[in-house]
Amino acid sequence: MKQAEGIAYIGLGANLGDPQDSINAAIVALGALPSTRLTQASSLYTSAPMDADGDDYVNAVVELHTQLSPTELLSELQNLEQQFGRIRSYQNAPRTLDLDLLLYEQLTINTATLQVPHPRMTQRAFVMVPLLEISPEINIPDFGSAHTLLPALCDQVIQKIA
Ligand code: ADP
Ligand code: MG
Repeated sequence: MKQAEGIAYIGLGANLGDPQDSINAAIVALGALPSTRLTQASSLYTSAPMDADGDDYVNAVVELHTQLSPTELLSELQNLEQQFGRIRSYQNAPRTLDLDLLLYEQLTINTATLQVPHPRMTQRAFVMVPLLEISPEINIPDFGSAHTLLPALCDQVIQKIA
């Protein structure tokens, strides 16, 4: 039986190697996941690392329509992070690719390995700005309309890459 499609939002971040290349390649790879279609991709943005070392980050958010469950999707995201050579030396270490499952439909998930909405997304301009670019009306479970959260993040400097 064909499983119903869910709409998921994925946050991408990279700050090692050629981060713009990594993000663009990761967007293509996300669209090629099994039973998944890429329906929207934000612009690329740069931001200074938050609680972390290294060069500026490149970030983006994409929308997927997928028949994968949230756990299946997380496991695909972790496979891609591995393929892109992420080395997890210490918490918040520079990384070639970070993929976060931000939202899945309007589900709230709280297991040991998966929290949705992503617990830190609402505090991060580099997530919220690209998310609102592709989905201005998006609602975040327990928070409400995403655009109402932006004013609180206005002191975080992020820049759209032309
Ligand atoms: P962050 O994305 O906040 O910078 P990490 O990528 O280092 O943090 O965290 C990875 C861990 O977070 C993984 O072990 C994964 O199981 C857990 N995790 C929990 N919820 C999510 C989610 N929604 N998306 C991605 N990883 C998640
Ligand atoms: Mg992550």
